[in-house]
Amino acid sequence: MFGEGPGQEVHAASFIRERRLVLDEALRRSPGELSRIALHELFHFVWVRLSNAERRCWEELLRQQMALGATGELGWSAEKRLASLRPADIERRSRRWREYVCESFCDSAAWAFGLLRRHGEFTLPEPFRSQRRQTLAGIVRHHGGVLPI
Ligand SMILES: [Zn+2]
Repeated sequence: MFGEGPGQEVHAASFIRERRLVLDEALRRSPGELSRIALHELFHFVWVRLSNAERRCWEELLRQQMALGATGELGWSAEKRLASLRPADIERRSRRWREYVCESFCDSAAWAFGLLRRHGEFTLPEPFRSQRRQTLAGIVRHHGGVLPI
């Protein structure tokens, strides 16, 4: 459903338990941005339906990329959470870390499946982008091409 956005910063929201998705009316004027944001929100529904092993696989990819010095993300939602992480969050798998992992998954999926090839929020360099695309493709293959929502 479309609704009046709660503000300029937030263009959408997912309510997983109620199985509802709200998109800012203003997104109708920007089809590329609408696809990016709608896909991000849709992948929140996918994330909660993945197995623990699949979610851990994504988490391990992020750990490996960080260890290799990756900086940047594929959306502001993940990037702002990444910026607030402390080393202890990663070690303890704190709530902040787990929220980052989830937002990174949703932003990466919106990038991989979306219409936009360039965007100011796509700051993660290669080869890290391709690794994320390959990991997402593996998850899709694992589900026979049909992702649960
Ligand atoms: Zn999100």
